[in-house]
Amino acid sequence: MKELFKIEDKELIIVQGDITKAEVDAIVNAANPQLAGGGGVDGAIHRAAGPKLKEAGMKWVKENGPLPTGEAVITPGFNLKAKYVIHTVGPIYRDGRHNEPELLKNAYKNSLKLASEHNLTTIAFPAISCGVYGYPKEEAAKISISVLKECLPKSTIKKCYFYLFSEDMYKLWVETAKNILK
Ligand code: ADP
Repeated sequence: MKELFKIEDKELIIVQGDITKAEVDAIVNAANPQLAGGGGVDGAIHRAAGPKLKEAGMKWVKENGPLPTGEAVITPGFNLKAKYVIHTVGPIYRDGRHNEPELLKNAYKNSLKLASEHNLTTIAFPAISCGVYGYPKEEAAKISISVLKECLPKSTIKKCYFYLFSEDMYKLWVETAKNILK
């Protein structure tokens, strides 16, 4: 299932499916600060990319320290169809009073900024922080669509994909996009 939206001259394509299958310049990983793989979408991306992705992540952390929440870093995609993986760390949701909305916004913004710095034209996002990091899904949907509305027009990205794993999440993102992008 997928549904297409326009943001000025850019396309936002909301898809139900597995992000590791996306044929794009970069897929975004909801990583943890150690960049060494983990569960959820992070684990799926590492399995599909192969062990070199973990080596690249661990090398970056050894040289730069753990990746702070809301920041992003780029590595090759190795065995993935995607040329690159953009790793970003979403916030762990506590109560909404620990800067979570700003940090979630930054994760999307900084991923797009990095994509633009590499002149990428296609990118795929997962629902950052919506798994074990516990972000309330409706809020996360609103933040992610709003930040794309704000930042896609000035980026190099022409087609931005949003991959939602479950049908419920897919429907929530489509409804939210209809509300915000109408
Ligand atoms: P976080 O730690 O940022 O919460 P998770 O990986 O736990 O990240 O979950 C983020 C979202 O990614 C969840 O909605 C989860 O269902 C979804 N997800 C898990 N595997 C995949 C996949 N292969 N493709 C797309 N989304 C996925």
